[in-house]
Amino acid sequence: MTVKIVLVYQSLLGIYGDQGNSKVLARRLQWRGIDADVVMVEPGETLPRDGSIYLLGGGEDNAQTTAVRELRRGGELFDALGEGAILFAVCAGYQICGHTFTIGENDEVREGLGLLDVETRRGPVRAVGEILTTWTKPDGTTSQITGFENHGGYTTLGSQASPLARVEIGVGNDGGGTEGAVQGNVVATYPHGPVLARNPELADYLLQRALGRTLEPLSRGADEIAGLRRERLAFVRR
Ligand code: GLN
Repeated sequence: MTVKIVLVYQSLLGIYGDQGNSKVLARRLQWRGIDADVVMVEPGETLPRDGSIYLLGGGEDNAQTTAVRELRRGGELFDALGEGAILFAVCAGYQICGHTFTIGENDEVREGLGLLDVETRRGPVRAVGEILTTWTKPDGTTSQITGFENHGGYTTLGSQASPLARVEIGVGNDGGGTEGAVQGNVVATYPHGPVLARNPELADYLLQRALGRTLEPLSRGADEIAGLRRERLAFVRR
């Protein structure tokens, strides 16, 4: 079995390095002896419907509008999620999953994909800088997530969406203490980094959700990853 990871619209949502998330997911599968295939899809092309994980990344306002139009036109992402695929969305990708978001200086309201019960509006100050959050994992234990946030839009969660994590340092969703959103098969967050390179436990959570089974922790790469995490935690708390 090959796990298909679908990297959606790099030409629109690929300017913050979030494509690295696809590499982390693929490599952590391969290290476990599971075949992985990263499929890159551009606007105008048909998304595969048999992907296990779909990835959306950060991008600029106008690109968000185009991405929504293209994803709605094809409809394959909705089909795949209906079949149980996982969507992991970062920043602009997160915002477009909501009901609405705003773009440009005049804050024009745009329709999102409606996959998350969230709304995004321009906030009082642009959130730029290191972010540190605490993520409570499904087993009740916690893990810290580090990354870099860079967004003008502030996201408010409705009752159907649950926050992914609590903010320790940074702005997160809207400065109110929550970060990211989880609803059904959709997991969304603001941090770049790429966030899954900095926080491989989050990568493994997505893989477990996509595969529907528990994966053994990996010792491979663990020292290097622990070193990087120590460095980033020290930096954000400086
Ligand atoms: N344009 C969006 C905002 O500023 C998303 C930015 C991003 O993806 N980094 O809120």
